[in-house]
Parts: sequence; C-alpha cells; structure tokens
Amino acid sequence: MSEVAPSKDHKPRRILLKISGEALMGDGQFGIDQETCLGFARDVKAARDSGIELCLVIGGGNIFRGISGAAKGMERATADYMGMLATIMNALALQGALESIGVHTRVQSAIPMQTVCEPYIRRRAIRHMEKGRIVIFAAGVGSPFFTTDSGAALRAAEMGCDALLKGTGVDGVYTADPKTDPTATRYDKLSYTEVLAKNLKVMDASAVSMMRDSNIPIIVFNIRQPGRLAEVLAGTGVCTVITDN
Ligand code: UDP
Repeated sequence: MSEVAPSKDHKPRRILLKISGEALMGDGQFGIDQETCLGFARDVKAARDSGIELCLVIGGGNIFRGISGAAKGMERATADYMGMLATIMNALALQGALESIGVHTRVQSAIPMQTVCEPYIRRRAIRHMEKGRIVIFAAGVGSPFFTTDSGAALRAAEMGCDALLKGTGVDGVYTADPKTDPTATRYDKLSYTEVLAKNLKVMDASAVSMMRDSNIPIIVFNIRQPGRLAEVLAGTGVCTVITDN
C-alpha cells in the first residue's frame, strides 16, 4: 500500500481530477462508453458527497488528437483545435452522466461556445464549486500546441486546488509500461524533478513543472477501479504521489 498524500489528517478541500479521453472508451477502441462515464460519475459524486470540492478536466484522445491529424498532413494548429472540440464532447458526456445521478454541474470551455456551455471564468468556476457544483473544464488551455494535461495543471493552480489527481488505466507511475514490461514496478512516491529527469510519462513536462512551481501534489491512480478515487482521497488507495521531496 502506498503512502498517499493528502493523508487522512489532511483531507483535501478542493481537488482537480484529470481524466484522459481514452479512459472514457471503457473496453472499446474509440468514442464514449456510457457505462464507463456513469462509473466515473458515481466515483466523483461520492467524493463530492464526502465534502470535497471538485473540478474536472477531460482529455479528447478517444476522439481526436492533434498530433495524429498533423501526421496525416493536416495543419497542426487546425488539428489541435479539432482535438479541443473533442474534449468539449467528452465534457458534455460526463456532464450528462453526472446530472443523471443528481449531481449539479457546469461545463466551462476555454473556447467560448455560449449555446452549449459557459465560457471559462475563473471566479465563476470557484463560486460553482463553493455551491457544491462540479465544474468540468473543457478545451484545455484553449490554444493549440498544448494538451489537456497542461490545461489540468493550469486550472488546478488557478482554482487553488490542494492536489491534481490524474486518473489513468494503471495504479500509478511505473519504471516502465506495465502493460508491456512484466518487470515494471510502481513508485509509491516521486519528486517533480525525478519525473522530469527520468522522463517518466506521467504528464507533459510543462504540466509537471507548473505543479512544481505551484507546489501542488500530483496523484496518479487507476480511475478504472471503481471506488479507488474515494480510497485515494481517504489516504488508503494505491497510487503514486509526486511532490517536492
Ligand atoms: N488540445 C490542444 N490544446 C489544449 C488541449 C488540447 O490543442 O490546451 C488538443 C490536442 O490536439 C490534443 C487534443 O486536444 O491532442 C486532445 O487532448 P489530449 O491529447 O490532451 O487528451 P487526452 O490524452 O487526455 O485524452
């Protein structure tokens, strides 16, 4: 069992949960799996019900990644804007799942789309969370050549979050890819600097260094495991904690 932060004694007040687009595919190869969205929604609701303020950042890799479009000859910036639009679709899917189980939510997009969702307004997002709403941030930072990891780091800093939780398909950060290398072992703890120096594929380097500058812990855990989010928040869940030491 890993030592986790925040500990039982230091229950976080507000967190940002980053969910990659790929996680929304469930067992599928593409797109959005409704049951998977509902499972995530239940875990998010449980965290909210325990008194934690939550905001979410959703990726778009299950639908479109700018870099893949660019590899096929598309202009990179155009492809990245398409990727950002994919994150808005995912945000709406998760919003629907959350609202279907009685959780009040707001989607705020870094690309204004006022007939669909709110534009990103920092103080308004904070107010929503104070009222118990879950805020889902879509469209990353709103600029091409970035990723939703950077969007997650930026919003976590802006929202004054106590931790950035990165939900992945594995139990934390490993020495190698555990899906292809059976000798890979999981780190309980890492420092931001180690993550950057070892070039561990946790989050983009820019996101990791932003969290280092803001002194916000990154907690990597398996979001596909129902109930794991609550365990991690309670200080008992398997995960990797990235902090300053
Ligand atoms: N994207 C972007 N700027 C941002 C966030 C996202 O250009 O601030 C684009 C980029 O093309 C990226 C795509 O949106 O490939 C989907 O986001 P990401 O790859 O981060 O999703 P994830 O891997 O988390 O599913």
